[in-house]
Amino acid sequence: MLYFGGHSLGLQPKAAATMVEEELADWRRLGVLGHHDAVRPWIPYHERAARVLAELVGAAESEVVAMNSLTVNLHLMMVSFFRPEGTRNKILIERSAFPSDRYAVVSQLQYHGLDAAQCLVEIEPRVGERNLKTEDIIDRIAAEGSHLAMVLLPGVQYLTGQAFDLPPLIAAAHRVGALAGFDLAHAIGNIELCLHDWQADFAVWCSYKYLNAGPGAVGGCFVNDRHGRDFKRPRFAGWWGHNKADRFLYDPNFDPIDGAQGWQLSNPPILSTAPLLASLDIFNRAGMPALRKKSIALTGFMRHLLEQRLSQHVEIITPAAPAEHGCQLSLRIARPAAEAKRCQALLTEAGVIGDWREPDVLRLAPIPLYNSFAEVCAAVEILARAIGA
Ligand SMILES: *Cc1c(COP(=O)(O)O)cnc(C)c1O
Repeated sequence: MLYFGGHSLGLQPKAAATMVEEELADWRRLGVLGHHDAVRPWIPYHERAARVLAELVGAAESEVVAMNSLTVNLHLMMVSFFRPEGTRNKILIERSAFPSDRYAVVSQLQYHGLDAAQCLVEIEPRVGERNLKTEDIIDRIAAEGSHLAMVLLPGVQYLTGQAFDLPPLIAAAHRVGALAGFDLAHAIGNIELCLHDWQADFAVWCSYKYLNAGPGAVGGCFVNDRHGRDFKRPRFAGWWGHNKADRFLYDPNFDPIDGAQGWQLSNPPILSTAPLLASLDIFNRAGMPALRKKSIALTGFMRHLLEQRLSQHVEIITPAAPAEHGCQLSLRIARPAAEAKRCQALLTEAGVIGDWREPDVLRLAPIPLYNSFAEVCAAVEILARAIGA
């Protein structure tokens, strides 16, 4: 199999099964005592992810937490960071935002009694273009001005593979008094990020794409420390966000932990956090700078082969500049829709795993951790045969 589906579900780290089995063994051996006495005690289990997660998103350890799944975290973040007041009540997203993000945003607007037809600002690429321009987003943010409460954008766009230039977008949001949050589903473990220095307000991610932590793995959140220590800001609370020293004293008054951990609701799911720890250990050893360097070369190589071999048949919609993409290339096959879809089916039959996104996009992601240049060569050859070129 030639696996180019790591943008959707990353491959299993070798240590994942062992780590899950170790937790099962500790549970079998210790029962409830495992909370304290497991080889990796369960109460602070999720904290083992913090150091590497912080490195991956460019944050202090206090600014990140592994918890829940992406959409749940997005809601928790919006509860705190979408606080409409008077005419400052709009949220800016992209027109082609991932459906779950759009549903979450619209439902938050409705939750505040706002009409999405008025308060949801959706930006789209210029006519005839597939990707958004930074200056257009900045202009739109400026035009909405004091009506804008929050900007929610991706780090890397799921459909086109476009990587956004976050610092000027964050600055533009702050200039009009709005907060800037990011969906890093396709960015974490893919491109280099410096959320703290860029002064992002919050971010959310899942861990089963580039982070290889397994289907439905525990996701994560970034909360900038300037908000993480602002206890006046409303939040939805749970016991796992309560001051660790007296979490088990059952104080009736919620006293949040400093930082992102203060947004936790529940005790961590050990069995779905174990593979995340296995995966983060690999990222820790490889390091994002080295991975990113290979990624640029590998994805650049795939682009080069596609342009040489298939320029008449395939349009690459992902931007070409290295700063504007991660691993993924999104392709349109220049055939009628049904035929293009059939090419994708042939590709899968021949063992090349990518995926198809309606209406017309084939996504392939060479992953620096586990894909080789030879695999890229083989995949492009198989694609050429599938297209009949
Ligand atoms: C993958 C992905 C999600 C997934 O959401 P879950 O809550 O983890 O199911 C959400 N948003 C974007 C942009 C994604 O790419």
